[in-house]
Amino acid sequence: MSNRPGRMDGKVALITGGASGLGKATAELFAEQGARVMIADVDAPRGEAVAASLGADAGFVRLDVTEEAGWIAAIKATQARFGGLHVLVQSAGIAITAAVTETSLEDWRRVHAIDLDGVFLGCKHGVPAIATAIANPESGSASGAIVNISSIAGIIAGHNMAAYNSAKAGVRHLSKSVALHCARQGLAIRCNSVHPTFIDTPILDDVAGSMDRDQALAKLGRQVPMGRVGRPREVAYGILYLASDESSYTTGSELLIDGGIAAM
Ligand code: NAD
Repeated sequence: MSNRPGRMDGKVALITGGASGLGKATAELFAEQGARVMIADVDAPRGEAVAASLGADAGFVRLDVTEEAGWIAAIKATQARFGGLHVLVQSAGIAITAAVTETSLEDWRRVHAIDLDGVFLGCKHGVPAIATAIANPESGSASGAIVNISSIAGIIAGHNMAAYNSAKAGVRHLSKSVALHCARQGLAIRCNSVHPTFIDTPILDDVAGSMDRDQALAKLGRQVPMGRVGRPREVAYGILYLASDESSYTTGSELLIDGGIAAM
């Protein structure tokens, strides 16, 4: 452990999807930077393992982001364990690859329930919880942030991503509405969205299908100007910036972490 100040010192963060991929990388980076971290995920064994690997300043709570009662309980558990909540990172998500004509109503609803309704519930219950914490000088931080993980697919559409494009575009605009609400209320809570392109996490397993995974990643990488898929840490550093006070004048913005795709 270094004695240097951390970029998240004093802050308590709740990270959905923290059992895997981008959420896990973010939890690790936040813990390194001095945050106390509550991991929330449907996958309890993997979530508990990540929390255990981070030590005493990390915990796990089982959360299905589609369930409102679960959100209320997860926030209460965070407050009980760490004395408040300052940062919410919403990384829980699923991807279904299908064109509009091939998407069942059931799949459409499942993608929207997890990727969009879940983010709405997090914002709805996260804002008042963060407002309570930052009003209390003893909670560890006088400002808060919500970082919603959308996707480059929330900005650029694809022919075979109908439900995912729709849900992720919804997260982008919802984040702006939340940002404006907090600003209007005079709350020191910022809300921003993050838009990664292909990042090497388990969510890409479906995309790889029956192909060798390395070959599939190389193929995806050829669609990116930088010639490769991204690494989870490369996204976690962007999330860290938006979660920390370094981005104190940034709200309602969208951070693209896409190897240059949107520049084409
Ligand atoms: P991942 O599959 O590694 O992690 C997703 C996590 O979400 C898992 O731990 C899973 O258990 C959890 N989860 C799924 N449904 C849940 C639910 N109902 N309630 C709570 N937790 C649930 O994937 P990832 O790549 O880390 O994806 C994280 C986020 O980033 C997702 O929102 C995804 O859409 C987005 N994203 C990923 C990529 C990429 O290429 N990896 C690109 C753009 C955007």
